[in-house]
Amino acid sequence: MRHLLASFLSLLFTLYHSTAFSSNLKIVATIKPVHSLVASVTDGISKPLLLACTASVHDHALKPSDASNLESSDVIFYVDDNLETFVKTFARGNKKLVQLSKAVNLLPARPHSFSRHIIHIQDEKDLHIWLSPENAKNMILSISTTLSRIDKENSYKYNQNAMRAIKKIDQEAEKITRELNGFKSKKYIVTHDAYQYFEKYFGLSHPSAILSIEEDAYMGMRSLMKLRKMMKEENIKCIFSSSQEDSIKPKSLSNDAKMVILDPIGSDIEPGKEAYLAIINDIAQNFKSCFIGSQ
Ligand SMILES: [Zn+2]
Repeated sequence: MRHLLASFLSLLFTLYHSTAFSSNLKIVATIKPVHSLVASVTDGISKPLLLACTASVHDHALKPSDASNLESSDVIFYVDDNLETFVKTFARGNKKLVQLSKAVNLLPARPHSFSRHIIHIQDEKDLHIWLSPENAKNMILSISTTLSRIDKENSYKYNQNAMRAIKKIDQEAEKITRELNGFKSKKYIVTHDAYQYFEKYFGLSHPSAILSIEEDAYMGMRSLMKLRKMMKEENIKCIFSSSQEDSIKPKSLSNDAKMVILDPIGSDIEPGKEAYLAIINDIAQNFKSCFIGSQ
């Protein structure tokens, strides 16, 4: 009897372990919002690595630890070859590179309002794709499908996690939709055109002017006057900027307009599966705080 019990227990042990949702896949994600979506899919199975944070997604300075993580990884989730340009250089062997921009409908990049240069943006796409909850849900499905194929044993759990994460995003998006509902006609200016997907999803108006701090640093007097006139005529009270450095220049534009920082990658947000929801909620609250203050 004791023998039977022992073999029964050992069978249970084996069964438990084969369904214990552990995986030794080494998964790397490039930026915090993508990392968060991946972490929500791998919850309880494995923990994805996030590259060391940098201030901007547009100039990623890889640390030696990042390079070695990318080197030794099995799967890399990232936005696009044109955003994280370094990813391609780590392609080798069976390593899977997953470009999540393929899972969404890309919008064309918008021209800057007062650029002195002729920008050839016809072929350029806006790669701030994660700021639309719809895109985030598609990215989750792509992450879950990819991992289920590579790690079949855990496919059920990946799927279950993906469905749960999608539901949470829906709930958060509904909440934000209600909160921003009264501000759809508010006019504003952005100094970094990162919010197109967010604006479209939540029905905010198109920005009255799209500035680019690098290019507009030498904005001519005539453009400056035009911008001031527009701000007055359209009663623009909000200038949304994406970092502290950006905020220096636009202050000279208007005394009664407020500068508010929107953070597209959640620099101050704790990484993890909840980070994505915090990032979009944070942007929503910052839009709202300026609109409310300028009623
Ligand atoms: Zn950007």
